[in-house]
Amino acid sequence: TGLFPIGPTDPYAFATGSTERAEIAAALDEIRNTDFQVASNIAGKEVRTGRTMAIQAPHNHSQKLGELDLAGPSETQAAIDASLDAARWWGTLPWEERVAPFLKAADMLEHGPWRAKLNAATMLELSKTTYQADIDAACETVDFIRANVKNMLDMYETQPGSQAGAWNRIEYRPLEGFVFAVTPFNFTCMNNLAFGPAVLGNTVVWKPAESASLVAHLSLQLLREAGLPDGVINVVYGTGGDVGPTALGNEHLAAVHFTGSTGTFQHMWQEVGKNVGTYRNYPRVVGETGGKDFILAHPSADLEALAVACIRGAYEFQGQKCSAASRLYVPRSLWPRLKDRLVALTEQIKVGDPTDPEVYVGAVINSRQHAKHTEILARARAEKAVVVGGNTDDSIGWFVDPTILEVTDPHSPLITEEIFAPVLTTYVYEDSDWNDVLRLVDTSTPYGLTGAVFAEDRRAVEEADAALRYTAGNFYINDKPTGSVVGQQPFGGARASGTNDKAGTVWNLIRFASPRTTKENH
Ligand code: GLU
Repeated sequence: TGLFPIGPTDPYAFATGSTERAEIAAALDEIRNTDFQVASNIAGKEVRTGRTMAIQAPHNHSQKLGELDLAGPSETQAAIDASLDAARWWGTLPWEERVAPFLKAADMLEHGPWRAKLNAATMLELSKTTYQADIDAACETVDFIRANVKNMLDMYETQPGSQAGAWNRIEYRPLEGFVFAVTPFNFTCMNNLAFGPAVLGNTVVWKPAESASLVAHLSLQLLREAGLPDGVINVVYGTGGDVGPTALGNEHLAAVHFTGSTGTFQHMWQEVGKNVGTYRNYPRVVGETGGKDFILAHPSADLEALAVACIRGAYEFQGQKCSAASRLYVPRSLWPRLKDRLVALTEQIKVGDPTDPEVYVGAVINSRQHAKHTEILARARAEKAVVVGGNTDDSIGWFVDPTILEVTDPHSPLITEEIFAPVLTTYVYEDSDWNDVLRLVDTSTPYGLTGAVFAEDRRAVEEADAALRYTAGNFYINDKPTGSVVGQQPFGGARASGTNDKAGTVWNLIRFASPRTTKENH
């Protein structure tokens, strides 16, 4: 339509050329026609319990992609033992040997058939469009892997000063014990929570989200084909309750590397606190959690740029990015025109099977999330808060309409509680209340992940910059609050949104190192 600067017309999008389109089509067919049997992988061996669940395509839940075998406490214990065994030699290898399989996997993903394959799996299992799959499963995964290596080398080079007669040095040892990586459903590239610590010499027990088990399975297969030795990354699929207590209760737990919900992270932190006297080392607890990310428009905002940011920020990947725009603050003078534009754009959006190139919004991840969204939108309809959209449908897939809401109470749960769906809630403020709205944006949610301000007036930008200093760990000026790029916008937030260790940076990697200082007289 030319309205959305994305999709097949985007010069950076995969599948713009006919060869790539054919590769994607073939890979989609291959994934659809394979009955994947996904099971835990411990020290290179598949381990099954026989307790299974179906792997479904969210946009067509009758389409089974395969079956997932769920691990329990004894498989988790076996994965810990395998990690501790591998830790004896993996962390002592020269760094060149450790990075080789990861860099090879990145090359295989960038150039070979793996790119279409992992993209296709991400499209079918997570319900991403080709564009959303490629920026995640291919581009960001490759960027993360290469950044891990660069960051590690930068870290190694950070050395203390020496004085006459003594040589001081720091050795960046891996942590002592195992790293427990818990990855979310929404980004295939977040599997890097397991990869980053491993590059540094740690060994890992990795629990992927059940709803992203196929992409985790294929990512591990790629790494193994690229030469990753057995035992370095041990995958256990299961619910938090099946795996968590065993991993968090083990005396050799060295770190938790988590992305997921605020509630789960707080629960894990409590478990670590409860066990704190029993660990050999104080575990590093690193996590990225929820958000209620804002777009704040000043009366001087560029209306078209603002409208596009709202649509892209709120609807891409069905609003299931931690960074997704979900609350919008607009001055009364702009609202009528902005509202018309948002309604017009929203009404043009095609919702459905994301493998159809015309589709912009796929399905949400599972029936549990869909039921939650259905309840919230029923409440919004009852409160007469719906501007456009507002319905859900689960007859074929778990679909939620792209939706704009408007509330008159700025503390309504519709604008303060995380939803994780393509829903943007608006609060209209009086133009003269700019300072009040800055305070409102800062104080009305517990989160601190991303946010954007739209203003052409430089003084307004500076005022927002100062007033919202802790409201967002990733702050955007005249841009949407999603789509951070590794090495360009280090990603992460504080407050209830996480420990703000910035994914893909040296500050993140260093949490998985235990530096040793040596002074040697000569
Ligand atoms: N880094 C992603 C972005 O900027 C979001 C990551 C997440 O949802 O965890 O959109």
